[in-house]
Amino acid sequence: FNVPTPKNEPILGYAPNSKERVSLKAKLAEMKSQVIEVPMFIGSEELKEGKKLPLTSPHDHQHVLGYYYEGDASHVNKAIDSSLAAREKWANMSWEHRVSIFLKAADLSASKYRMELNAATMLGQSKNAFQAEIDSACEWIDFLRFNAHFATQIYAQQPESSEYVWNRSEYRPLEGFVFAVTPFNFTAIAGNLPASAALMGNVVVWKPSPTQIYSAYVLMKILKEAGLPDGVINLIYTDGPLTGDIAFRHPEFAGVHFTGSTKVFQHIWKTIGENIHIYKSYPRIVGETGGKDFVVAHASADPKALAVGLLRGAFEFQGQKCSAASRAYVPKSLWESTWEYFSKDLVELKMGSVEDFSNFVTAVIDEKAFDKIASYIDLAKNSDTAKVIAGGSYDKSKGYFIQPTVILTEDPKFTTMTEEIFGPVLTIYLYEDNQFEETLHLVDTTSPYALTGAIFSQDRYAIELATKKLTNAAGNFYINDKPTGAVVGQQPFGGGRASGTNDKAGSSLNLLRWVSPRTIKENF
Ligand code: GLU
Repeated sequence: FNVPTPKNEPILGYAPNSKERVSLKAKLAEMKSQVIEVPMFIGSEELKEGKKLPLTSPHDHQHVLGYYYEGDASHVNKAIDSSLAAREKWANMSWEHRVSIFLKAADLSASKYRMELNAATMLGQSKNAFQAEIDSACEWIDFLRFNAHFATQIYAQQPESSEYVWNRSEYRPLEGFVFAVTPFNFTAIAGNLPASAALMGNVVVWKPSPTQIYSAYVLMKILKEAGLPDGVINLIYTDGPLTGDIAFRHPEFAGVHFTGSTKVFQHIWKTIGENIHIYKSYPRIVGETGGKDFVVAHASADPKALAVGLLRGAFEFQGQKCSAASRAYVPKSLWESTWEYFSKDLVELKMGSVEDFSNFVTAVIDEKAFDKIASYIDLAKNSDTAKVIAGGSYDKSKGYFIQPTVILTEDPKFTTMTEEIFGPVLTIYLYEDNQFEETLHLVDTTSPYALTGAIFSQDRYAIELATKKLTNAAGNFYINDKPTGAVVGQQPFGGGRASGTNDKAGSSLNLLRWVSPRTIKENF
């Protein structure tokens, strides 16, 4: 009655001349030379209708990888109808068969489609090869396999009974459709939001970010090949507000699985609240939103470990992670030694296209993101209380490139210390060594978010103090490590406050949101 605990999918290293590097390079070249046409998947149909729009690479925005079709209101309605038409059969399929489809998808992703998934993530979202491997291969595969395991654990949970009474729990799917709204920054998250709800027997309408459509298409192909029946997940490329207007005003709306901005998520809550009287059940609202993730160092910290944590935490995938380190608090006595390591490593970071595997930094996702990030850098350049001490330049002529930027400020409430930037910008505030506890208070109170955070220290009292004082400041708290890179099955991921509902992706807590249990009591 159990899918055994899986092992995390091993990460391929892509060392120079390795077999995997050769094959990924070949896949990249092949996919770059094609111009694909990406359909919407609604019910049994693959639709190429609506407005034809180009898919481009953020690091080479004139290069057209293919086209997708932007649907309209009729496609949203059709996707909802198709999901509801598939519901009865899917909801009644025994869990062994549902689970098998997702385990098969994991297997296909680990073997036949691994390079295609990684190449689509590299070309479409400008992730470097190593970050793509961690995301679109390993994390996606882990989500599928661990969720299959957690699902069987959930189904096995049964109440006490006696000789005279038999009690049962039935973990029914929600009555209606689930709406998955997914982000560009993790292919794994984009796939997991519809897949985890579907695994528990739900039918889904999936609207990805327009900047993740290439890899969303590959994920969908895999799910279909693994045997996902028509209509269980319907993938549409439609305008966000338009889709929301229709989905949240539908009487069969049963829940939303969301990763994206705090502003959009708050709007979703309001719209659902306004329509609460029309639904059959209270909808599930599950969301992971923004972050303003911190690194706080104690004077006892190892400066080298701190420098590595800051660099990787802030600049992997150009800082476009909800979990990215974007504000740091460093004691004055530690700064010089930390900066010595940090600045040396920064100089060595290469920036450019994803096709050159020696580039650590590539482009940010699109022009809107580029302009927003650049405006924060300019704000620091023009400020009296902050100074740009590394990076600071940007150029969007070929791709949306922004140099990893470090800002030093005397003001712990400087704008770049408090607002989410979602780009390669780290702001550092230096505090007096004897102000550690006051600094912890600052960390806790200067941002509305509470997603991730880290303490660097060799002093156990300081670690304990930070862990206690920052109880609610981060859903994922790291000791002597960067605040990014949660691994499925090891660090269930999510945060509270303005960062989301903290329904821990990669754990049974998340899956429990997609069932509506029935208790059955029978007397003998
Ligand atoms: N789970 C990712 C991490 O731990 C971040 C997810 C996100 O950016 O939304 O780095």
